[in-house]
Amino acid sequence: MPKAASIRVIGVVAAIVFFALTAATASAAAPYCPPDQDPEFVLGFAFMKSQLGDVMGEPLECEHPNPENGDTLQQTTTGLAFYRKATNTPTFTDGWNHWAWTADGMVQWTGDAIEPPPSFRDQYDAATITEFREMISDLGIIAKWQGPILLEVRGSPTAADIAEVDELIHEIGPLITRVAISRVQAGGNMAIYFIPRWQFSDYLDVVNPRAVGAAHPSWGLAFGEIGSAIVLVDYRLSLAARSKVLKHEVLHALGWIEHSLRPDSIMTPWLEGAIDWSPTDINLIRILYDDRITPGMTAADLTAIGLWVQSSLRTVAATTGIDGRVAAIRGTFAGTDWAISLAPAH
Ligand SMILES: [Zn+2]
Repeated sequence: MPKAASIRVIGVVAAIVFFALTAATASAAAPYCPPDQDPEFVLGFAFMKSQLGDVMGEPLECEHPNPENGDTLQQTTTGLAFYRKATNTPTFTDGWNHWAWTADGMVQWTGDAIEPPPSFRDQYDAATITEFREMISDLGIIAKWQGPILLEVRGSPTAADIAEVDELIHEIGPLITRVAISRVQAGGNMAIYFIPRWQFSDYLDVVNPRAVGAAHPSWGLAFGEIGSAIVLVDYRLSLAARSKVLKHEVLHALGWIEHSLRPDSIMTPWLEGAIDWSPTDINLIRILYDDRITPGMTAADLTAIGLWVQSSLRTVAATTGIDGRVAAIRGTFAGTDWAISLAPAH
């Protein structure tokens, strides 16, 4: 199909020469145009031209239906503009690159597919999309891992704790498919300490002495890219509570910066409540680790790909949460200074 598409583009180039030659002798001969009308982009195609500029070239003919499938077509000097009949979406392709103006704005993709890839709105319900803005920081900047995550368990874990970590890896792996996650004996980049909470301050500035867990992801080389993390779990909790705190803090360490106020979420800031993650929690991790979302993306970037994200106005709900988080990273943004410490209050 790419071959056929590129042949079509060559055909278009040949057509340019042809029409350039004929234009000198018969100015009214543009295909599918009424007499004495020059080809032009109108309506949706005119809008696409305003967005894509030179990429879209100039029209070689007037818009016309394709009798085979009901689509509307217009050849240009660089490719083909078309509306798919079923979706009425203005689309342009140079044979390999595609652009379409969709409900989520301009979408670009490459390859053989004529239709745009499914949008987040196609894939997830509105409540999940809305919730996504609550999981990332109030600054609306995406933090996530790009490279392999190597969990290393330290402190005094029981065999059951190790099993919980392995189970968590098993559960998270399919959600972050482009990032490998595994447990290592040494040299890990996500250190999980099972320690009494009075030792927390040896590892992190945990401001709340009642915290039973904490997480601190730190930047790697690139802005927004998490390169390492420390997770603390109070080993004196019950196994069930340790399991919850472990999950909660590891999700923070993956880039789920804020807390959720959904009662079924494992990311509420309280030890009480849900002990396991909900389907929405799972989908939010999937969205965060979707290829379309890259480290350092801002609220505007996210809005442009169909995720409605804006700075949340809510305040952090508790000062006595699982992880003793108080002010989170709010107000600490100062250019790249913020990169040094993602969540200093943890
Ligand atoms: Zn938390």
